[in-house]
Amino acid sequence: MRIILIGPPGAGKGTQCQRLVEMLEVPHLSTGEMLRAAIKQGTAEGLEAADYMSHGQLVPDQLILGLVTRRLKSPDCRKGCLLDGFPRTITQAEMLDDLLERQAMSVDGVIELAVPRDELVRRMLARKREDDNPEIFARRIESFERQTAPLLEYYDRQGKLVSIDGLGSADDIFERVRRAIRAFRRARR
Ligand code: ADP
Repeated sequence: MRIILIGPPGAGKGTQCQRLVEMLEVPHLSTGEMLRAAIKQGTAEGLEAADYMSHGQLVPDQLILGLVTRRLKSPDCRKGCLLDGFPRTITQAEMLDDLLERQAMSVDGVIELAVPRDELVRRMLARKREDDNPEIFARRIESFERQTAPLLEYYDRQGKLVSIDGLGSADDIFERVRRAIRAFRRARR
């Protein structure tokens, strides 16, 4: 299965992704993690991305597409993958559809993890990451609302979107995620 998880920063995507990759037995593709690894390794892509990331801005689509294309073409992704943090713009979603179509593949389903803004801020203050200071965090939420939220409509029009409530315990939320996956499986048959 090829599944996309979409949610604002602080929605708890990381926790749900960990559980979901175990259940689906597919690789977890997190563009945020790929970028952080590229920065650590000091690659040209990492150098280019670092400045955008430290300002809470999205990295240019072409750079992301390069990373993702290489990863999606590797053999372990043939039976599926979990996409986390990608696509993040309509352009990226269109590029992904093109890329998959050329390999006779497609996205099976998209899960939105919905969490209200004040809860996101509360969670951010309780954890700590380098790009998590309040000002940068607010910018990441804005970029989500402006650039990523339109994707929900894009996938809804394709009949692929399931929105789930991201409030509650990790177990409760995972149960909702599982229900969404079952719906995607039924739709595939
Ligand atoms: P979060 O979902 O909490 O914002 P991520 O780890 O997914 O965190 O991403 C961290 C940062 O990496 C983003 O703020 C952005 O700058 C960059 N990034 C990650 N994925 C993408 C993407 N698909 N397109 C553009 N920028 C991205």
